[in-house]
Amino acid sequence: MNSTTTTTQNFEVHDQKVLNWAKEIIEHSSSPRLIQKEILDAADRNAIWRGQECLNLLAPEAPTSPTVRQLLASEVGTRAAEGHIGPTQRWFSGTKYIDEIESLCVELLKKVFNCNYADHRLVASMIGNMTVYAALTKPGDNILTIAQPLGGHSSNRYDGPAGIRGLNIFDVPMDPVDLVVDIDEFAKVAREVRPTLVTLGASMTLFPFSLKEMSEIVSEWGGKIFFDGAHQLGLIGGGQFQDPLNEGAWIMTGSAGKTFSGPQSGIIVWNDPNLTQPVCDTIFPALAATHQVNRVAALAASAA
Ligand SMILES: *Cc1c(COP(=O)(O)O)cnc(C)c1O
Repeated sequence: MNSTTTTTQNFEVHDQKVLNWAKEIIEHSSSPRLIQKEILDAADRNAIWRGQECLNLLAPEAPTSPTVRQLLASEVGTRAAEGHIGPTQRWFSGTKYIDEIESLCVELLKKVFNCNYADHRLVASMIGNMTVYAALTKPGDNILTIAQPLGGHSSNRYDGPAGIRGLNIFDVPMDPVDLVVDIDEFAKVAREVRPTLVTLGASMTLFPFSLKEMSEIVSEWGGKIFFDGAHQLGLIGGGQFQDPLNEGAWIMTGSAGKTFSGPQSGIIVWNDPNLTQPVCDTIFPALAATHQVNRVAALAASAA
């Protein structure tokens, strides 16, 4: 703490007017039940406005099936299951049916993404990207990622997990009109920077990436391709886009709530058995503990 600081100011990142609205309600409600009624009413107002009166075109709000929504509200969401699937690897007992749900989820993800390994415990795709950077890079490593104005995402930039990991971030050279990687420029920059990882994570995509060409270039110094398929995940699973893991990507993350139409959360998939230990040791116990089993059940349903 800075001992020369003499005044403490109220610094709030949230809109003070909106917070004051809430404070007012909390102070003037005579019971917790009435406060809960306000919360239920706000959710109902949202269900009518956003659920019935709007055409929603926001990527993380892809429509979910009634089964996905039913599972999100199911009893299993009040249960806890830390650790790996199976009777001897959990921190809590009473998980035999949770093991069934989670193993269905993992095996479905492997089948959908035609890969050897999958993890279901990421409460967000951001956490998946943090997993990749924590498990597969060291602070001070160079990486190449797509700049935000060209469709890149904060998770792969200085203000997100890649920055928190202390990586040196360089831009993937992109054609600003077609939003595809400029391969000649890429070869030049990559050979100069020699990145440990090249992250291809784009929230705006018109065309598949030239993964084979890029992975051949970075393999000259042992670099790898990390495909952040947050947006394209449902198209990849459904065979309507490219198949990153089988075209040269080393590992892939994605959002379950965008084109995948599952519960908002993340997935991570890979083929190389050498990745299993570092990736899974990072997920548990570093980035996930109780990982929301209702969400896992809903994820399994959307994968099915
Ligand atoms: C949306 C997005 C993410 C983050 O996904 P969440 O599931 O919201 O955590 C990561 N990378 C890219 C490219 C994205 O578009």
